[in-house]
Amino acid sequence: MNWRSYAKQGKLRLDRSLIPYIASKLIKVDDHWLWTGSLHGNHRDRPQIKIDGTNYYVARIVWEVLYGPIPDGLEVCHKCDIPNCLEPRHMFLGTHKDNMFDSLKKGHYACKLNIEQVEEAKKDKANGMTYQRIADKFGVGISTIYNIINGVTYLHLKEVSNDKQ
Ligand SMILES: [Zn+2]
Repeated sequence: MNWRSYAKQGKLRLDRSLIPYIASKLIKVDDHWLWTGSLHGNHRDRPQIKIDGTNYYVARIVWEVLYGPIPDGLEVCHKCDIPNCLEPRHMFLGTHKDNMFDSLKKGHYACKLNIEQVEEAKKDKANGMTYQRIADKFGVGISTIYNIINGVTYLHLKEVSNDKQ
């Protein structure tokens, strides 16, 4: 059952009134609007919101408020390759398979940079370089850099490095 059905039952107020709340949880990074609230998913990188004990993907709410119901079997995917970006223009509807392929590609990001490069990327960011410029410098995707700098994959890298010691 999607959030619209819940709303019809009068249990939730999942409508445009949620948008100011969602907007208050976003920060602008380059041309992306990144979620600073709760995350969920395989890589713990998908924005979610809990209302009356039920979790909803924020990307789905944003999409449905702006463009209408999402047809069965389709999911919100990201052109920009950043799963926690909620800039509507960076979203498109795809099948579960598209999304799986998306996250499979992302699953490999942990192997792309070593610890020294991660530290260097963090320094670059602290010195004011954009995510895109850092990504270009290391020859990886912007989501790789975003996730590494924000700690999403760093923990994994640390574990790998500890194993070797
Ligand atoms: Zn984006």
